[in-house]
Amino acid sequence: MFIHVAVPVPGLDLLTYAVPAGIDPPAVGARVVVPLGSRIVTGIVIERDTRPVSQAVDVKPIRQVLDSGSFVPPDVVALARWTADYYAAGVGDTIPALLPPMARGGRADAHKTLRMASITPAGMEALAASEVEGRQLEGLQILSGSPAGIATGVLAARGIAAGAISRLAKHGYISLRHDRVDRDPLAVSPPPPALGTPGSDPGPTPVRPGSDPAPAPAARALTPEQDAALERLFTLAAAGDFRVALLHGVTGSGKTEIYLRLAAAVLARGCRVLILVPEIALTPAMAAVFRDAFADRVAIQHSGLSDGERHDQWQRIRRGDIDVVVGTRSAVFAPLEQVGLIVVDEEHDGSYKQEESPRYNGRDVAIVRGRQAGALVVLGSATPSMESYHNAVTGKYERIVLERRVLDRPLAAVTIVDMREEYAVEGPDVILSRALRDGIRARVARGEQALVLLNRRGFATAVFCRQCAGTLDCPNCSVSLVVHGDGHARRARCHYCNYTARVPTACPLCAGPYLEQAGFGTERVEAEVASACPGARVARLDRDAIRRRGSLATLLAKFRDGEIDVLVGTQMIAKGHDFPRVTLVGVVSADVGLGLADFRASERTFQLLTQVAGRAGRGEQPGEAIVQTLYPTHYSIQLACRQDYAAFYEREMQFRRAMKYPPVVSLVNTVVRSRTFAAAMDDAGDVVDKVRGADNQLRVLGPAPAPLGKLRGEYRAQLLIKGTNRKQIRERLQSALAARPDLQKRVVVDIDPLSVL
Ligand code: ADP
Ligand code: ZN
Repeated sequence: MFIHVAVPVPGLDLLTYAVPAGIDPPAVGARVVVPLGSRIVTGIVIERDTRPVSQAVDVKPIRQVLDSGSFVPPDVVALARWTADYYAAGVGDTIPALLPPMARGGRADAHKTLRMASITPAGMEALAASEVEGRQLEGLQILSGSPAGIATGVLAARGIAAGAISRLAKHGYISLRHDRVDRDPLAVSPPPPALGTPGSDPGPTPVRPGSDPAPAPAARALTPEQDAALERLFTLAAAGDFRVALLHGVTGSGKTEIYLRLAAAVLARGCRVLILVPEIALTPAMAAVFRDAFADRVAIQHSGLSDGERHDQWQRIRRGDIDVVVGTRSAVFAPLEQVGLIVVDEEHDGSYKQEESPRYNGRDVAIVRGRQAGALVVLGSATPSMESYHNAVTGKYERIVLERRVLDRPLAAVTIVDMREEYAVEGPDVILSRALRDGIRARVARGEQALVLLNRRGFATAVFCRQCAGTLDCPNCSVSLVVHGDGHARRARCHYCNYTARVPTACPLCAGPYLEQAGFGTERVEAEVASACPGARVARLDRDAIRRRGSLATLLAKFRDGEIDVLVGTQMIAKGHDFPRVTLVGVVSADVGLGLADFRASERTFQLLTQVAGRAGRGEQPGEAIVQTLYPTHYSIQLACRQDYAAFYEREMQFRRAMKYPPVVSLVNTVVRSRTFAAAMDDAGDVVDKVRGADNQLRVLGPAPAPLGKLRGEYRAQLLIKGTNRKQIRERLQSALAARPDLQKRVVVDIDPLSVL
């Protein structure tokens, strides 16, 4: 018989192998060791094909079966397959989400090491200066996108052979090191000596969920709205069918309490529960709520865990020792059986989308998993995505509403500050308006807390020359460099490729001495707050501030414990957190996102402002929000300040209908990269022609330069396909790309993109 196997090599489809006589046919979901070219890799059986092996067919035999049963449960294998198909990815691309880190190389290889290559600063410079070409150039390009490094075996699979790698190393453009196999997601193991004895599988013992009766959640009086919502959700869950409910509850309406009680009811019926949150930072709080109620029957799954922790938790889930899994998007593939409830908290959040292949949205995969399992799926949000709300309006989902906060606490009172007026009075350099400065000072004096949001990192966002008007741009990307740090620590950095440079004292273009910094980011706001409120304890939370592992949790804990008075940050501070002592939220430059050439700019701005305003007044003291903007009349700012979701949806739908964007149509974004702008446009143009075909059925826009026209040294052209039949779009696109195999490594297909930048 044959088996079809997913192997951990990017972009590869299923591979077919023969099961030689004498080896017991592996189950779907079992791990197998198979030859691939001159290498040996560990893959997962995705499908069995019981046709007898004919002598005529030249199919290689598998080398070894690692599990006597399924390692990955068959329904999770089916989910992975669906994901790969839908998102036009290789099935192997889903393996990192399917397997715990140490299971990827197979048990036999647990202590083998793997040669890893990473690009060095000299390599970045060589790439920027185009000092290399051919395979070496390709190698540097691939490596520049993966700062953590890539296994040399994986590079080889992408055409970068050993010769090119050793030449790059000799020049100092890359560094080589040995990593333990069990830490590498794409482990390629050396061949085992011979056909070995199969390792034992984890032995899933079917335990009835809830067999260890969990303590009932602490009884707390629900609000009438919570009561009614829960009543309805109980009914839906008891039906035992696939249903999707959109739990549309304003910030602070007590959605977590509803998830908890619903989970208890589902567990009591003998089913298990999966809870997804958008960010690693939100898992501890959610997990704590569930651990209080269900103790050690709760597991956590996210990429921030150490490999060992993640592996242990995975095995416990697989063995059936776990009733509730709390995790980020890849937890949607958790090996949990008898799933009766899936909760997707903050379902609108962009972090559910994976920005590498497979480019799946964890929320949408959760819905597919719910359909497979006949489970109830609850999507929770104060600001539902346009897609989910649209599905509620059309009756596909049931909408359940919580319009009030718990204990009748009022939503924050929002004031809009028109910064044009502020500039007229205070001068053009003002960053904190008078209202915001006074507001922060008053909070600090009263021992309350404040959050200040600016969704832009760094100190200054551009450096320009007053003599020639030139700007300091990234040599690899079509963006300007951002200044980080102040004084001696000052560096200019690219937010896309991490290129860094000293901030010059004279203009690199005209040698003029009049360089000026323009624009400002979170670092500058942090400094402004500190100088406006001497004595206040001010901290910053953004991607730069949490580079070190654990620093995010520490910062959040300090803020919660009152050791920080004012927290300045990017969208990270807006999400889901429940800080009862925050009574003021300030938004600096509420319109930063509106200038982007992206069809979701208004939706994202509305969500961000509503969510961040929702962080104020969650405790006993009422909250206030101060929103600074240059566009006080823009609908997404106005309606967010009024917290009027329904009005925003209607207004935004007019735009989506007029311009034909989701949820009115399905959208697929395709980006083609090339070494010159002209080549990128030509290649994209060719794809456009092939997708359009003779019948001209699909609406294809492009080729056009991508908004981010150059990235990591490559030029990017884009085409957008719109239609009502996603399957047709995908098939057309795939056959167009099949005709251009040379593009395979240079094209990115994004189905249901969250952003088209
Ligand atoms: P949401 O996720 O809807 O923004 P949370 O679930 O974080 O809101 O709840 C907000 C706060 O209200 C939390 O501190 C929670 O413990 C509390 N809470 C929830 N339900 C009730 C209730 N019925 N009575 C009192 N407090 C509640
Ligand atoms: Zn760059």
